[in-house]
Amino acid sequence: MLHFQMLASVVEGHIAQFINDWPVLDLLTDSRKLSQPAGTVFFAISGRHNDGHKFTSQLYAQGVRQFVVEEQRVQAQLKNYPEANFLEVKSSLAALQAVAAWHRQQFRVPVIGVTGSNGKTIVKEWLAQLLSPDELVVKSPRSYNSQIGVPLSVWQLNEQHTLAIFEAGISQPGEMEKLQQIIRPGIGIFTNIGSAHNEGFTSVEQKVAEKLKLFKQAELLFYCDDYPLLHQAVQASGIKSFTWSRTSKKADLVISDTTVAGAKTIVVYNCQGQKQRLAIPFTDEASVENALHCLAVLLHRGLPLFDIQNRLDKLHPVAMRLEMKEAINGCYLIDDTYNNDLAGLAIALDLLASQPQRGRRTLILSDLLESGVQEEELYRQVATLVQVKKVERLIGVGPTMQKHAEAFGGIGTFYSSTAAFLERFEADSFRNEVILIKGARVFGFEKIVQAFQQKVHGTVLEVNLDALVHNLNYYRSKLASGTKLMVMVKAFAYGSGSFEVANLLQFHHVDYLAVAYADEGVSLREHGITLPIMVMNPSADSFAKLRQYNLEPEIYSLELLEQFLLSSSAAAAPDRIHLKLDTGMHRLGFIEEDFESLFRLLEQHPQVQVMSIFTHLAGADEALHNDFSAQQITTFRKLSEQVQARLGYQVLRHVLNSAGIVRFPEHQLDMVRLGIGLYGVEATGAEQEALQSVSTLKTTVSQVKRIGKGETVGYSRKGVAIEAKTIATIAIGYADGYDRRFSNGVGEVIINGKRAPIIGNVCMDMCMVDVTGLEVKAGDGVMVFGPQLTLVELAQKIGTIPYELLTNVSARVKRVFFAE
Ligand SMILES: *Cc1c(COP(=O)(O)O)cnc(C)c1O
Repeated sequence: MLHFQMLASVVEGHIAQFINDWPVLDLLTDSRKLSQPAGTVFFAISGRHNDGHKFTSQLYAQGVRQFVVEEQRVQAQLKNYPEANFLEVKSSLAALQAVAAWHRQQFRVPVIGVTGSNGKTIVKEWLAQLLSPDELVVKSPRSYNSQIGVPLSVWQLNEQHTLAIFEAGISQPGEMEKLQQIIRPGIGIFTNIGSAHNEGFTSVEQKVAEKLKLFKQAELLFYCDDYPLLHQAVQASGIKSFTWSRTSKKADLVISDTTVAGAKTIVVYNCQGQKQRLAIPFTDEASVENALHCLAVLLHRGLPLFDIQNRLDKLHPVAMRLEMKEAINGCYLIDDTYNNDLAGLAIALDLLASQPQRGRRTLILSDLLESGVQEEELYRQVATLVQVKKVERLIGVGPTMQKHAEAFGGIGTFYSSTAAFLERFEADSFRNEVILIKGARVFGFEKIVQAFQQKVHGTVLEVNLDALVHNLNYYRSKLASGTKLMVMVKAFAYGSGSFEVANLLQFHHVDYLAVAYADEGVSLREHGITLPIMVMNPSADSFAKLRQYNLEPEIYSLELLEQFLLSSSAAAAPDRIHLKLDTGMHRLGFIEEDFESLFRLLEQHPQVQVMSIFTHLAGADEALHNDFSAQQITTFRKLSEQVQARLGYQVLRHVLNSAGIVRFPEHQLDMVRLGIGLYGVEATGAEQEALQSVSTLKTTVSQVKRIGKGETVGYSRKGVAIEAKTIATIAIGYADGYDRRFSNGVGEVIINGKRAPIIGNVCMDMCMVDVTGLEVKAGDGVMVFGPQLTLVELAQKIGTIPYELLTNVSARVKRVFFAE
């Protein structure tokens, strides 16, 4: 077992303070994910977006006693940590990687490394499942494949395991060498090569070459040689390979035919001179490709055909995401039926713990299908996690959970099976709870999810929280160090769900939030949001509420300030406000003429504290208005200096919205105000590629019908069939926020991957689309907007802006949040 002093030599660090040679059991990089302080070593990583050193004192208070920090960062304050070991290193990230690489070297087990543009996680999950009858497999949790995720994955490896499968993902040159050192795969799988994540590379060739570095020491590489660039690169590298192909007869596994039959794909193949057929339980291209990678591995291992078929039959789609949604009786569900092992459970419990004020925290948990840990020990660890993550109610499902009921103290109720739980399910016994549903695939927990789901019509707005974080980090990477970030969550977070978005932003440590109205701020506070919040349109009758909920009004006129002062109590707490200047937008704001009166009022009321002063650009997104923007900024700088000078204390100055952050990096001042960019729309258009689509509006087909030539569709008979047509009625109308201007062929939707135009007028609750020649049936899913049909494109069609389309999605459309 690794101990602290040994750790110091493994990572070549300098011991700055030594108390005790404690064991190293857990590596922690994210202060929010602490589970057991004893044996935890915290690596304070200073990343592009965050600095782990900010959290050392908090972790010390929580009982962590071992820290790896970067040189010069904590030295002066060591006296504040009288009982902790401290190790100083050049880079904490490099130290984390070094300790994982050292750990890996302690084991001789076969290690499979998986990389490629798509399918890494699924291939890893499936392969682990397919090989589990013969092996005790350790694998990366979820898609832990980054510079931090890989070390944490490899750290799980222990003496019991007979096989390891780790995935590796990179976004720029230089990263794979580091991951190779940690994983050291003897066997490789290179899934494919696509155009995704191209930003960091100069060409696809370079990307392939970089990724291939994972297999530097591999004895065997599995890949599909239908990707010419990949094939050439592997050939040139001299790595021994096992290939499969649909086109080349030279491959080790030749796929001569694939035919879809019902829900399966029948594969005819030739391997080592033997012609065989097999059924894969999927029909979509990507799943078939992923399954063929796995088939190659199974054939290479020499498994008998009936065994392979047997195991393939049990594969299920891997739910790549974890969904959050509203449920019966004010409950909120976190639906995670992805798999159920200890690492995955810890991640899901962190998410549960990060939902403040949602009500009682409940966990519905199936038996864990964990390999490599003894049952008693496993359930002891589960019980500790459940306790540390403050689960208040536990429902255990499955014979093993039942058997270990005592490990959980008094908080649990246990059932032998999912059916047994559902038989006794009483909706009324769940009220205002946040419920994490976490079950291994075989337990069929989707039935439990269904029991909790509210009935809603088939239209949903899916919000991708990972994309939101990606976009947040993209804008953060543009900020000078020290520049603060205010995020606009007005108008229901641009239609995406105020609380969920605000909660995520709080988790990611933004500095400020802004809403339009007091009520929006109150609702955030009631949901446990503690970040400072600016309210942009405070009305005089809301001032008491603002104070009560610690919300900070934007003050834009003398009248408003006078009203605010009148309502001011003699309370001791300072009254925090923000001053808005009008520099040319001519919407709200003080102008220079107001200044003398403004200063006089502020001087008379020293309890009022100005937190920030700001203005808004009228044309930040367009080069056409560059001169005007420059003039606004100059005016603002001049006026804000006057205000600063008179106030005699520091206030934050801010000007830039999303477009401004992209176009005027030199004018970030003390803070910027991010809006639409967070939600995936780059307002200037120039850097749209760098953002990810956040919201997808989906509905379903209610009915399909054929109409004859000359017949008409919908109100006012506007849709005329000039020839016989097939029409699909879909469950979205203008009352859902689907603009009526999309009528009569202006708008399009995507059904089963194909575009289909609107025919006739959009109705209140539904509309009709022309699906002539397409494969469409009632119940099929419809994408109204999303990654393949962008807000930018749709907004152009009807002469509006993406902001309007996003914020128009009406409240009756259910929001579903998901994350990987
Ligand atoms: C809405 C708003 C923003 C954000 O604008 P985006 O264009 O969405 O980035 C910034 N500042 C003020 C005052 C706003 O009202």
